[in-house]
Amino acid sequence: TEKSGAAAVDRNQQLFDRARQVIPGGVNSPVRAFRAVGGTPRFVQRAQGAYFWDANGKRHIDYIGSWGPMILGHGHPAVVEAVQKAVLEGFSFGAPTEREIELAEEILRLVPSMQMVRLVSSGTEAAMSAIRLARGATGRSKLIKFEGCYHGHADALLVKAGSGLATFGNPTSAGVPPEVVQHTLVLEYNNIQQLEEAFALHGDELACLMIEPIAGNMNFVRASVPFMQRCRELCTRHGALLVFDEVMSGFRVALGGAQSIYARAIPGFAPDISVLGKVIGGGMPLAAFGGPRSIMEQLAPLGPVYQAGTLSGNPVATACGLATLREIGKPGFFDALAARTRSLVDGLAGAAREAGVAFSADSEGGMFGFFLLDALPQNYGQVMKTDGPRFNKLFHGLLDRGVYIAPALYEAGFVSSAHSAQDIADTVAAASEVFRAG
Ligand code: PMP
Repeated sequence: TEKSGAAAVDRNQQLFDRARQVIPGGVNSPVRAFRAVGGTPRFVQRAQGAYFWDANGKRHIDYIGSWGPMILGHGHPAVVEAVQKAVLEGFSFGAPTEREIELAEEILRLVPSMQMVRLVSSGTEAAMSAIRLARGATGRSKLIKFEGCYHGHADALLVKAGSGLATFGNPTSAGVPPEVVQHTLVLEYNNIQQLEEAFALHGDELACLMIEPIAGNMNFVRASVPFMQRCRELCTRHGALLVFDEVMSGFRVALGGAQSIYARAIPGFAPDISVLGKVIGGGMPLAAFGGPRSIMEQLAPLGPVYQAGTLSGNPVATACGLATLREIGKPGFFDALAARTRSLVDGLAGAAREAGVAFSADSEGGMFGFFLLDALPQNYGQVMKTDGPRFNKLFHGLLDRGVYIAPALYEAGFVSSAHSAQDIADTVAAASEVFRAG
């Protein structure tokens, strides 16, 4: 019950203390540790629909949803049934199954820029493999990424900008040798002039440009249509591949991903390679990368680019992903999800306005971002102008009231089809209280 949440014994704290003895930082992925916002991470006991219950038995409205995968909410009956059935048939075979074909066919139907797809187990693996494929297919080494975009933790992608456009990046993690990132050029998001200069200097040596088209790792920032159009034109002119990292945006901002949104604005638009994850596994470890047949046939066993995985195309994960994709493909699903998400950001904006708090917000499909800033930021530097202590106060104010948003100001948020109008109203009411408290 809610009451036991205020019990003298804090089970979350007990578990955190115990976890820190055996797991570095007590967590298996850093952002879970609440380092940015301070306080004790909530250990999840169970989850259902739009909620999870922490170790104190306290209920939270969940706006993280496993950082994107849980677009149907937790424990959707059709997905649970598909997973239970699959488990009884076997966990993992290391041999091909019909279900992998079904999932591949479903993905290709929904994302028509891809003619073939390879299944892997994490977004990191998919992005890493996409880069190897782009390098193998072009015979080039260099790549462009953008500040604030995250593509998993492959060595070549853990990089920050060097001192200028003529210099390549520096590692952002210990353990990444400088030689490994010397081919990675880091540019400012939405900066067309810098993009043009970079292509003028290095265009003919570039294997690919990798981008989150609607970025969810610097909170929520869209690539402008003119910027995206320029990315496409320059890649085509210089023979570099345009790689869309849609691990977060795929099947989340629209059924056809962010690329379907840019294709509406830019006639004939398509990326060369797409990287997918999160929603395609419905909460199980599953990710993918794909593109035109001519590029994908460069992969082993057909071609010279090596890539493999013991658990790739796992039968339980593919069952979970397939059931999820079938639900989100039903008529009206995305319209309803987008409207619900929009009602959240509009409600929050209204509450902030009434309290005189600087605020801006945006959403697309079931993904949203809000900022304690007067105007929507266009790049990482602008996002990071947010008043950190102020965000942390908002975070904890919401958490105390049973509303769980990302514990860092540079993360996006997620609404699921299980979030009700009442959940949104309760969230806005909680935010209104916190805003008014200053
Ligand atoms: N790309 C993007 C855009 C992501 O958001 C993430 C994870 N948040 C990844 C890649 C890496 O995926 P994973 O955590 O499954 O390795």
